[in-house]
Amino acid sequence: MRFTYVTLFQNLIEGYFQDSILRRAQDKELFEVDYLNPREFSTNRHQKVDDTAVGGGAGMVMTPQPLFDTLRELKARGDVYIIFPTPVGKPFVQNDAKRLAKKKHIAFVSGRYEGIDERVIETFADELFSIGDYILTGGELPSLVMSDAILRNVEGVLGNSDSLAMESFETPLLEAPSFGKPPLYEGSSAPSEYLKGNHSRISALKSALSECKTKFFRPEQLLQHQKRTSYEK
Ligand code: SAM
Repeated sequence: MRFTYVTLFQNLIEGYFQDSILRRAQDKELFEVDYLNPREFSTNRHQKVDDTAVGGGAGMVMTPQPLFDTLRELKARGDVYIIFPTPVGKPFVQNDAKRLAKKKHIAFVSGRYEGIDERVIETFADELFSIGDYILTGGELPSLVMSDAILRNVEGVLGNSDSLAMESFETPLLEAPSFGKPPLYEGSSAPSEYLKGNHSRISALKSALSECKTKFFRPEQLLQHQKRTSYEK
């Protein structure tokens, strides 16, 4: 799998791949990363990539020419799926991460300033995603957030792929609380059932705790799950 980051700030992205799981996955050649900087495609003699908005309004907008030329060059190199992170996109969720893990080449186009000229988005976007209802200064963090979530679903990236199966959002319920060793720490104990080694009882307790956690943090998700299971009965 290949990720191309179209960004004015490559150095904001590079560091994330220099350590831990994703560094090891890159060393194992499970994915590769490259970058395109729209500034290098700007025909402006000062390599400008932004200008004031047509029709007025606060702030600067990323102008069409540098991005049109960058993305044309990208597409000329081969088949690529182009994602624009934007607060107006649909929310990025776990199912998107799993679905996109099957793509061979994804490009993320990071906006800056007040965003990207709409004509660029209309011409090149395969999908638009938001990573939450708040405004960040640029698309680099959202691109990394999505890349990380996608890569966890690429075969071989996680040491133990079993850990994917029981995670929150993989099932209708959030994951049950986890406890690391030692079982007793500073007077606080992991649930005693976890210590007794009876796997069916541990699993029943985990299901009950998952339900409690979902009820507390995501009541609407639990309601949907209960509706679905009552239809199935
Ligand atoms: N003026 C835009 C608006 O109100 O929708 C916000 C532009 S934001 C300051 C600049 C860039 O950051 C966007 O083009 C996008 O690439 C990225 N961005 C900011 N917040 C985001 C979010 N919640 N999800 C995805 N991308 C985001």
